[in-house]
Amino acid sequence: MKSFDAIKKQDNEFIANTYSRFDVSFVSGKNARFIDESGKDYIDFGSGIGTNSLGIANAEWAEAVSLQASTMQHCSNLYYNPVTAALAEKLCGASGMKKVFFGNSGAEANECAIKTARKYSFDKYGAAACRNKIITLVNSFHGRTVTTLSATGQDVFHNYFFPFTDGFVFCLPDIDAIKNTVKEDGHFCAVMLETIQGEGGVLPLEDEFLRELETFAKSEDILLIVDEIQTGIARTGRFLSYMHSGISPDIVTLAKGLGGGLPIGACLFNGKTEKVLSFGDHGSTFGGNPVSCAGANVVLDKVTANGFCEEVAKKGEYIKMKLKEKLGEEITEIRGRGLMLGIDFRSKTAKEIVSEGLKNGVVMLTAKKSVRLLPPLTITYDEIDEGINRLVSVFA
Ligand SMILES: *Cc1c(COP(=O)(O)O)cnc(C)c1O
Repeated sequence: MKSFDAIKKQDNEFIANTYSRFDVSFVSGKNARFIDESGKDYIDFGSGIGTNSLGIANAEWAEAVSLQASTMQHCSNLYYNPVTAALAEKLCGASGMKKVFFGNSGAEANECAIKTARKYSFDKYGAAACRNKIITLVNSFHGRTVTTLSATGQDVFHNYFFPFTDGFVFCLPDIDAIKNTVKEDGHFCAVMLETIQGEGGVLPLEDEFLRELETFAKSEDILLIVDEIQTGIARTGRFLSYMHSGISPDIVTLAKGLGGGLPIGACLFNGKTEKVLSFGDHGSTFGGNPVSCAGANVVLDKVTANGFCEEVAKKGEYIKMKLKEKLGEEITEIRGRGLMLGIDFRSKTAKEIVSEGLKNGVVMLTAKKSVRLLPPLTITYDEIDEGINRLVSVFA
C-alpha cells in the first residue's frame, strides 16, 4: 500500500486546490467503518456527506453494481433500458410523484427544477407576465453551478463569479415575510426550500410553516419545490422529509443518498408539473446511467422495506439519548430528525471536535458552527456506541 505521505503529495500536486482535506486517506471499509491506508479503523458518522446510505461496500449493493458494470455500463438516453425505468417507477411509487428526470448530482437536479418552474409559468401566463422569479430561504444551500449558487441564500457563496443568474429572492422562513414579498412583486413562479437546512447548520423548518407555505403557494399558483438532496431517501426517518409535515410539493429534488455512493440526481414531478418539460427542453449525457441506477435500485428496495424508516428514526433517538447521557454538560443543543443531526457544544468548536474526533477514530462533519452527523442509515447500535465513545474521548 502507498504511504499516506505519498498519497498526499500526489493529491496536492495534481488535484485542484478547491478542498482543504483532513490528514487521512481512506482505502476501504464495511458498513459504518472506514479503514485508512495504515489499517486503522474509523467509525463513520458522515457517510461520505450523506451518500453512502447503505454504508460502505454493502454486499447486495456492490453485487448489483458490479453485475450492471459487467453487463452494460451505459447506452445513453437515446434508447430504453430496463434498469433506469425500474428506478423511476420505484421513485414514483415511494413518493407519489408522477415522473422523474435523471441527472448526475444535486445541483443538476435543482437546475432541472428551476427550468421546470420557469417554463410552467411561461406556458401558463406567457412571456409578458415575466413570472420567472423564485423565492429561496436565507441559509439555504442548493448547489455550486452558477444558477444554484444564485439560489443559495448565503452571502459567502456570492463572491467572485459574477454575473450570477437573476431571479432569486431570499426570504426568512417566515410566512408573513414570504406573503409580503409575493404581494410586492407578482413575478414569482416558485418557492424552493430544504425542510432541514443541511449545509446551513442543520436548521429544521417548522412543520406548521411548511403547511402554511403550501396553502399560500397553491393560492398564488406558485410551485413548491422541495430540495430533498440531503434530507431525502429515509435520512430523517421518513422516505422524504416533507412527509413529516404532510405537504405535497410540485417538484422534489434528490441526489446524495440516492445512489448509495454513486453519482445520481433526480428531479421528481407531480401531476401539475409532469408535462412541463417536453422533447428537447432538457437532457443529460450520463443522466440515468444504468450502473448508478442499479445501485439506486438496491437503495430504494432497502429503504422502502417495512420498518426501515422507523429503524432510522429509532437510531436517531438513540444517538440523541446517548449523547445527552455521556456529554450532556458539553452539549448546548441537538437539532434534526432521524439520522440527520446538528449538535452545538460548549467548550470546543465544531472544527476542533471533528478534527480531534478523526484522530480518535470517528468521522463527523461540520455545518456552519455545528457538528453534523449523517451516519449510514444501516449503522448498527454497536457502531453507534463505539463512535460515541470515541467522540466522548475528545472531551476526556
Ligand atoms: C449537497 C446539496 C446540494 C448539491 O448537491 P451536489 O451533488 O453537490 O451538486 C444541493 N442541495 C442540498 C440541500 C444539498 O445538501
